[in-house]
Amino acid sequence: MTSEAGNLAIPVVWHDDCLRHQPGGEVWLGLREEGTEVPERARVILRALTSAGAPVLPPRPHDEAALLAVHDRALVTHLATIWADWEAGRYPADYGRDRVVPYVFPTAAMLAGLPLRTPAATHGQVGMFCYDTMTLVGPGSWEAIRAAADSARTAAALITAGQRAVYALCRPPGHHAAPAGYGGSCYLNNAAVAADELHRRVGGPVAVVDIDAHHGNGTQEIFLSSDDILTASVHVDPGAGWFPHFLGFADESNDSNLNLPLAPGTGDEEWLAAVRRAAAFAGSARALVVALGVDAAAGDPESPLEVTAAGYREAGRILGELGLPTVVVQEGGYDLETIGELVVETLSGLAAV
Ligand SMILES: [Zn+2]
Repeated sequence: MTSEAGNLAIPVVWHDDCLRHQPGGEVWLGLREEGTEVPERARVILRALTSAGAPVLPPRPHDEAALLAVHDRALVTHLATIWADWEAGRYPADYGRDRVVPYVFPTAAMLAGLPLRTPAATHGQVGMFCYDTMTLVGPGSWEAIRAAADSARTAAALITAGQRAVYALCRPPGHHAAPAGYGGSCYLNNAAVAADELHRRVGGPVAVVDIDAHHGNGTQEIFLSSDDILTASVHVDPGAGWFPHFLGFADESNDSNLNLPLAPGTGDEEWLAAVRRAAAFAGSARALVVALGVDAAAGDPESPLEVTAAGYREAGRILGELGLPTVVVQEGGYDLETIGELVVETLSGLAAV
């Protein structure tokens, strides 16, 4: 089951609607930039996987209950309706605001303990849910967000149809999406949707191992008080100045959550040692979700980690050795030249066991 042989046997769940999300860049430190979470990411990964021989399957649409199992209804409703509200408010037509972006945030410091109200203005409401300025919403975003969540859920459903490992090509990514908020280019938490579905079908505990370069803060928060879903994350140390800045520290770990922050510049050896610790933490689970970001790779523009393609392949092998039914959910990875190969290498490592 190697990419060289062109017979990668892990099915890929994919829907073209995931291309419909065109964030149109991101506002970072006050300036709108091109951004790196672009539709081409998914095209590149899909091309690499089909070249490696992986079969591609469509997701089945799921009802709202799949989303409400891991997110507040207010967030789901906001994401489903905000673009229509934005257009109805004539923000694009009259003000040139062609994407939804927040500008005021009801932080704890602002409210000082007073109750959170829902602002009358649409442009005031966005900051209730979106916690940064780089996670824009436009026409087609909701269709892509839904298709990504559907793909994750379908991948989990296929596991119990007798498949040991299934990969969901989710775009936009999801691991920064919290129970009631979104950010970090993520809207709904695809890995959490997959974990919830696996738990329903296989029983618990289910483990989520996140090897994206950044802390899976949303997944941690969704399952923080759950004994049924274990979460482990290997990521660049937020204490060294990296997103998500406020979360992802080692001392947030408990019996069901393990954070393994690494110094900028970390390469294969230490990164794989952390992946082994995360795998050991997940070893008692009955099923596994791998939140696969390939942005820890050396050439990625979004992180300072220095993992090689061989490192990703070995990570796949380590996680495959657990012998658990496994759903792999795509998270980050932004170097269009290499992300296809990195995903293929990881899945090949997983399948080789
Ligand atoms: Zn990332």
